Amino acid sequence: MSQPGVPASGGALTGLQAQNGAASASGSPYTNGPIHNELMSSQGYNSQLPGSYSHLIPAKTLNPISVQSKYGGSQTVSPLSNYQGPGQTLHRPPVASNPVTPSLHSGPVPRMPQHASQNPAATPVPSGSFHPGANVSPPLNWQYNYPSTGLQTNHGPLVSSGPAMSGNTNLTTGHHYVSSGDPSLQNNFIKSGSAPPMVNSPLPTTFQPGAPLPPPPMGGPPLVRALTTQKSSQGAGPQPLFSSAVSQEATPQLTNKNTTVSRSVGYSYPSLPPGYQNATAPSAAGMPPSSLSYPSGPQAFTQTPLGANHLTASMSGLSLHPEGLRVVNLLQERNMLPPTPLQPPVPNLHEDIQRLNCNPESFRCTLTNIPQTQALLSKAKLPLGLLLHPFKDSVQPPVVTSSTIVRCRQCRTYINPFVSFLDQRRWKCNICYQVNDVPEEFMRNPLTRIYGEPHKRPEVQNATIEFMAPVEYMLRPPQPPVYLFVFDVSHNAVETGYLNSVCQSLLNNLDSLPGNTRTKIGFITFDSTIHFYSLQEGLSQPQMLIVSDIEDVFMPMPENLLVNLNESKELVQDLLKTLPQMFTKTLETQSALGPALQAAFKLMSTSGGRMSVFQTQLPTLGVGALKPREEPNHRSSAKEIHLTPSTDFYKKLALDCSGQQVAVDLFLLSGQYSDLASLCCISRYSAGSVYYYPSYHHQHNPVQVQKLQKELQRYLTRKIGFEAVMRIRSTKGLSIHTFHGNFFVRSTDLLSLPNVNPDAGYAVQMSVEENLTDTQLVSFQSALLYTSSKGERRIRVHTLCLPVVSTLNEVFLGADVQAISGLLANMAVDRSMTASLSDARDALVNAVIDSLSAYRSSVLSSQQPGLMVPFSLRLFPLFVLALLKQKSFQTGTNTRLDERIFAMCQVKSQPLFYLMLTTHPSLYRVDNLSDEGALNISDRTVPQPPVLQLSVEKLSRDGAFLLDTGSVLMLWVGKNCGQNFLSQVLGVQNYASIPHTMTDLPELDTPESARTIAFISWLREQRPFFPILYVIRDESPMKANFLQNMVEDRTESALSYYEFLLHIQQQVNK
Ligand SMILES: [Zn+2]
Repeated sequence: MSQPGVPASGGALTGLQAQNGAASASGSPYTNGPIHNELMSSQGYNSQLPGSYSHLIPAKTLNPISVQSKYGGSQTVSPLSNYQGPGQTLHRPPVASNPVTPSLHSGPVPRMPQHASQNPAATPVPSGSFHPGANVSPPLNWQYNYPSTGLQTNHGPLVSSGPAMSGNTNLTTGHHYVSSGDPSLQNNFIKSGSAPPMVNSPLPTTFQPGAPLPPPPMGGPPLVRALTTQKSSQGAGPQPLFSSAVSQEATPQLTNKNTTVSRSVGYSYPSLPPGYQNATAPSAAGMPPSSLSYPSGPQAFTQTPLGANHLTASMSGLSLHPEGLRVVNLLQERNMLPPTPLQPPVPNLHEDIQRLNCNPESFRCTLTNIPQTQALLSKAKLPLGLLLHPFKDSVQPPVVTSSTIVRCRQCRTYINPFVSFLDQRRWKCNICYQVNDVPEEFMRNPLTRIYGEPHKRPEVQNATIEFMAPVEYMLRPPQPPVYLFVFDVSHNAVETGYLNSVCQSLLNNLDSLPGNTRTKIGFITFDSTIHFYSLQEGLSQPQMLIVSDIEDVFMPMPENLLVNLNESKELVQDLLKTLPQMFTKTLETQSALGPALQAAFKLMSTSGGRMSVFQTQLPTLGVGALKPREEPNHRSSAKEIHLTPSTDFYKKLALDCSGQQVAVDLFLLSGQYSDLASLCCISRYSAGSVYYYPSYHHQHNPVQVQKLQKELQRYLTRKIGFEAVMRIRSTKGLSIHTFHGNFFVRSTDLLSLPNVNPDAGYAVQMSVEENLTDTQLVSFQSALLYTSSKGERRIRVHTLCLPVVSTLNEVFLGADVQAISGLLANMAVDRSMTASLSDARDALVNAVIDSLSAYRSSVLSSQQPGLMVPFSLRLFPLFVLALLKQKSFQTGTNTRLDERIFAMCQVKSQPLFYLMLTTHPSLYRVDNLSDEGALNISDRTVPQPPVLQLSVEKLSRDGAFLLDTGSVLMLWVGKNCGQNFLSQVLGVQNYASIPHTMTDLPELDTPESARTIAFISWLREQRPFFPILYVIRDESPMKANFLQNMVEDRTESALSYYEFLLHIQQQVNK
């Protein structure tokens, strides 16, 4: 079995600059070959910490596969130099004192065993499939952490996320809270702001005296931090902000009486988490409530009685269920999937802190227990990073209007629930520990109108809040909403019939486009020439202007091409009605997309705004013309496929767009290869979105037509932010080094987002640069400054607070497996680009092996047989296997290149919730729904069928099964499905009469119908767009799509879950 095949590099070599992100901020050139300077890290995850773990890991089984042979660093790369972008490591200057010598693996390198068909026994390795001297391949593992240079953090003084904000707060101006006459805003405060004020109450009193204690421990370690609060009779404190933050696995908060209690919880656990025992408990029982130590920061200080929201030094809010302390043998416990959708872990914080914490739907961390040192983080072999969904529109944060936005004068952090008040007039920053003055106007609580309650202000009561920004935050007057639509009208485009759908959708939603009286709109169409449309008010009909010189596009009458929507609405409607007919006879097959984009950019460059581009083929004319690169024979292999752009034209144009506050959204509707790898750069770097409808046809593919309609509806009417920037700050000692998502990294940590939309997710990787030994809590704050469609400048701030731990066990206990898998997926996309798909796949597998090996060797005291994993990571192998079978990373199938690229774009830009649903969908049996365990939501009974394992073993022909993949719901009806379901839910007489295309369930007057519809509606209500439902018969061509999601099963080219576990076990137990 074990043959040498692919030498891997040792630790930190091959600092290939990302093609997708091009070169570094410091201008390091991209080179095509291997780079032996380990300091130029590639994407940040194969960089090296000086002297640390260097991936000279024990070699794992080697199973060389010819089709997956090394694809080294020297692939076709265009010199997209001097730009930074998504997935791009911030390159720091090389530091002489960081002499890591690249060490090469000479031995065999771990590889995942392949299924028999690809096994070396069956497929001999062709000689010469790898040239050791030619390419040094990146390590097959990830080094998650960035070398500490000590030169740069993101905490520089006066780094402002708002332009030109003075460092001084204005102490004299009065604040203007939103008028109390505005009920919506006032409600905002009340709703998510705070509970009724508890004037001078010593502490919030959410402890329930006398509550029963959990079962006594079985020799486990004490896991409850000393509790140091006073019992109070004030009753329950404020309601938790988010019910979703409460894990289903969390027991009710452990409760304590009023003294310091140290308690053991849990089953026999192999090693002690001393951090829990050593928890600082500065205030002892009986200490006056007025004297509370704040846990964070280098020095202790006392706090005067300020009321309810104070942080205490204690962190007794143990949120781990004893189950959470369990060690699981995955080979014995095969189904660890919870019956209800997996919830994020709740950070182990005192409940008074956790109550104020950010909703994990907006902001979460891969490790809810932050390791104290880089050494500890490296030991865990888990990636440290944040996943953000900052502009989520189902979140309605309180809005604060104040002439002074209180920020740290040193690091510009916004005041937040996790700062500490030294006294009424001074607060200490939780990011940099600077002590700041409390401005006079902040002394008055706008809710109670009481003076002297700075700690009860909404800014200090809400981890998510939105500020109305004063003029200091504006570089120019807020831009009007500008929407430009660019349509492909070539013969191919006309054939698909898309124009009709899009124009109709625009007509339907014209009045719902976010905006105000300043909204502007314009249209460009193109084939081999470019067509502009004058929509000037007063014209009797739109005027079409054709420009045939695509070399240097001349802009006719630019002032009449982007017009005020209100003033020219009739002309716009006229145009939308005529456009679909205008080109029906066209014979023009060429596509001058590049020149059309240049023209569109020129048109928008003075205003900024959103450009929506619809393209149906490979661009063939002028700048940006592309050639077919897909070789169908290579589809099934993981080598030499063109994942990177073939030209830098789209990226450069995107950066020009970004500079002028223009974002480009690309809708690709094409049955042919269109080189999405090149085209998607136009959106990736301009902070746009990519939509893809393979084989779109108005008649032949009604399913795609409906999908486009639903998605356009969402696209056109969803919230939008213009001219945005986002900055993420983290407590001193932590450093953010790599960003994932669609944006441009303008300066070290400032993300430029010409548009921000509520469906965009982001991820960042972090390292521990300075020891956090003096700190018990760390915070992360994201601040998004944007212009609303109403022309207001606003700042949306999210702050997340997490505990710091000192033991490996605690790090593992707090692992958030979904966030970890999501971050790894982002890293794997980058790895696919910079190295190869097979490298990325290997790195994913090794991420599991390395972390579980670390757990086994460093945490477990006795070496038991089996595959022992901490409860927190019980789904890690499953999720990684699901990633390997996801379209982005799968092999051995006929995944078309554009589809793969699109899947990768989705990985990089989707919020975690959707990424996980796409990767590991939820499967339910729905032909036997009952009211048992159902939810009652406003008079509706919503059944809650258990989530099933993704295996055909769970399916049966006599049932009906619903698969929720996030944007699509698939209802597979078995051939022998009960008559009851067919007639009472589907409304058909028998199986044969189920329509071949069915995307709606009839509303029948039967309890079965009501239950099914209630369940599906409930799933849909949890997302902002409308997932389409496909009813799939057994012989339907879509059945393959459905079955593809059964990730626990073996396929031609991929292992089953059990085989995968055996492989992992074999590697871990070496
Ligand atoms: Zn600060």
